[in-house]
Amino acid sequence: MITRSPLSLQCSTTAGSWQTQLSGAIRDPRELCRRLGLEKRWWPGAETGHALFEVRVPEAYLARIRPGDPHDPLLRQVLPLDEESHSTPGFVTDPLEEREHTPRRGLIHKYAGRVLLIASPACAINCRYCFRRHFPYDENAPSRAQWADTLDYLRGDASIREAILSGGDPLAANDRQLGWLVEQLEAIPHLKRLRIHTRLPVVIPDRIDGALLDWLGRTRLQKVVVLHINHPNEIDEAVIDACRRLRDAGVTLLNQSVLLAGINDDVDTLTALSERLFEADVLPYYLHVLDPVDGAAHFEIDDDTARTLVDAMRRELPGFLMPTLVREIPGEASKTPI
Ligand SMILES: *Cc1c(COP(=O)(O)O)cnc(C)c1O
Ligand code: SF4
Repeated sequence: MITRSPLSLQCSTTAGSWQTQLSGAIRDPRELCRRLGLEKRWWPGAETGHALFEVRVPEAYLARIRPGDPHDPLLRQVLPLDEESHSTPGFVTDPLEEREHTPRRGLIHKYAGRVLLIASPACAINCRYCFRRHFPYDENAPSRAQWADTLDYLRGDASIREAILSGGDPLAANDRQLGWLVEQLEAIPHLKRLRIHTRLPVVIPDRIDGALLDWLGRTRLQKVVVLHINHPNEIDEAVIDACRRLRDAGVTLLNQSVLLAGINDDVDTLTALSERLFEADVLPYYLHVLDPVDGAAHFEIDDDTARTLVDAMRRELPGFLMPTLVREIPGEASKTPI
């Protein structure tokens, strides 16, 4: 059950365009604590974590957090904690060794048939467990001239059937840039699919506006949008509406989640998430175990617990609402089922 706080009413009357909402996101750890009525004891940890990876929370997401509850599962995804400064053996800054797989600026080619393009260095929200919290985005945000090189690489490899726009969050880029890029991609005959990995329709649902639907609706490429939602409370009516607009534009909608201690590591939450996703016309795709990124060890769930949870989910849900539990292992040719 989603409880609407008074904040969400406030937000809907002052929302503005997605760009305004993006630039107006909360970036001050104390403001985040104050707005949610958190006790002062949370402040120093929030400052410490913020110094390592800055706070970013859009108002539309803040509105879904229960004020005064330091354990709210949405807050836990965005509130920096002192634990982020603890180093843990095995937790490193580049757990997926992505820096090894960038043959062109902004391009990661690790798996057969598909390449990942860093279409925007920025995110609309900063998730504390993010495996890219240390990724040198600024070095990997190509300009239009640098895209020429990436596009050459795609043209030169006929085995590539799918381009995946990723980031950061690709939908943090503007529609002029994205429309241009998709036009370039669809001119490559062997490309069949456009996939977009994004959290923007969830954290700022107004991102799915006419300008976006215009370029998305026009392309000849088959379209898949993979959302990133970890908890059923993230899916409010505005998110359901945004998903409906994407579906109406011919998009197949999937979701990936990360299994996170204290956020979604129980059967009821995971089952409710799958059910709620389907209400939004979204199918569960992957449930990832945490990538061992430095500063996120406090979110870890061990493999045995993860398997037990997923087995219990299977007893509650139809097969088509079951995500695949996976880990990403550097050097492997695909995600690895657990
Ligand atoms: C996860 C990932 C993909 C997509 O993998 P799928 O199993 O097709 O979803 C592609 N490229 C990279 C670099 C990835 O990390
Ligand atoms: S939206 Fe995705 S890439 Fe951006 S911070 Fe969150 S998990 Fe990381």
